[in-house]
Amino acid sequence: MIERVAACACGQLRVACQGEPKSVSLCHCLECQRRSGSPFGVAVFYAVEALEVSGEATVYRRPSDTGFDVVHRFCPACGSTVWWEATRKPGLAAVALGAFADPAFPGPTQSVRAETRHHWLPEDWL
Ligand SMILES: [Zn+2]
Ligand SMILES: [Zn+2]
Repeated sequence: MIERVAACACGQLRVACQGEPKSVSLCHCLECQRRSGSPFGVAVFYAVEALEVSGEATVYRRPSDTGFDVVHRFCPACGSTVWWEATRKPGLAAVALGAFADPAFPGPTQSVRAETRHHWLPEDWL
């Protein structure tokens, strides 16, 4: 089975992910923009059991407008968010696509929250 490893900027916090992701989703919401520092976030969804975590993670829990908290896990040394869980979707973990640092990684198959999509993103793009 394929294994891909996501890591923070300093490499201290690592998540080994077994198998293919369940889905890859691009999100234009403002919370993903704040979390990532990018104009959108890309979440790679896996079953929680497919993840093997090593290193220290700090937890940040934020409320979301759906009424369900989102629990971020980030490296206390360098601050990169490596993965997070939405309490609305128990059993699923979202891993930050950029944390894989792999340009060949499967791309997003959908995008959500178009209402806060940046105006300069190409028209024919997700
Ligand atoms: Zn780090
Ligand atoms: Zn989002």
